[in-house]
Amino acid sequence: MELLKGKTAMVTGGTRGIGYAIVKTYLDNGAAVALCGSRQETVDKALAKLKEENADYKVIGLCPDLGNPQEVEKAVQTVRDTFGKLDIMVNNAGVSARDSLYGYKPEDFARTMELNVNAVFNCAQAAAKVMKEQGGGVILNTSSMVSIYGQPSGVAYPASKFAVNGLTKSLARELGKDNIRVNAVAPGVTRTDMVAALPEEMIKPLIATIPLGRVGEPEDVANAFLYLASDLASYVTGEILSVDGAART
Ligand code: NAD
Repeated sequence: MELLKGKTAMVTGGTRGIGYAIVKTYLDNGAAVALCGSRQETVDKALAKLKEENADYKVIGLCPDLGNPQEVEKAVQTVRDTFGKLDIMVNNAGVSARDSLYGYKPEDFARTMELNVNAVFNCAQAAAKVMKEQGGGVILNTSSMVSIYGQPSGVAYPASKFAVNGLTKSLARELGKDNIRVNAVAPGVTRTDMVAALPEEMIKPLIATIPLGRVGEPEDVANAFLYLASDLASYVTGEILSVDGAART
């Protein structure tokens, strides 16, 4: 089934992990996709891997500074010039943090906010302008299960994801009149590079706290992004969809 046939999407943080799985899932469902990464080298690597899987994938790579509104607007324009329109904007790029409050450097706090919040604002704004003109679209954000209960260190990370939920719910209300739906997915512990690198003795107790008895796969999360981007979710907006195996820590 091609749930996104004829649609075009832009995915930030699309070079690896959850973002890469979203890009591949969207391509497999008939979309044309622009994947964004922080470095040209990783963007090229992701593009080569996708083309190896399927030479017919309609995919391009971009490397905008997401903290710079002009660069983001330019990237959105490139997507439009290449594919003719932008239907789906996925704000997925993010960094996590573990610092204790007592030693937390303000510049580290600001850096996490810059990517996890300001970049979401920049991309949502640039995408919404284009979508309004086109008559509608979908904006999706990657939140986290820590956006519900916080976490005991690295306060910028949960704070940034609470902000992502606030952006999601508020923009859904503001942009509904322009036929733009805005939703977020809140993944639990997901097997990306970061989690795969954890030693067995850390993973086992973690899994014990998850009712479904396993960590999430990037594809589990990408399937939620597929549903929310598709017309199956045509009356769903302002939602934060948890994909966490019912883990609530
Ligand atoms: P990852 O570290 O594997 O990938 C991060 C992506 O973000 C990469 O594509 C990278 O190019 C991009 N990126 C990093 N810094 C950037 C910058 N300064 N500018 C532009 N792009 C940048 O991460 P992941 O685990 O796949 O996480 C993706 C999203 O999912 C993040 O928003 C993260 O907070 C969220 N999340 C992850 C988990 C998890 O367990 N992995 C759980 C909950 C939420």
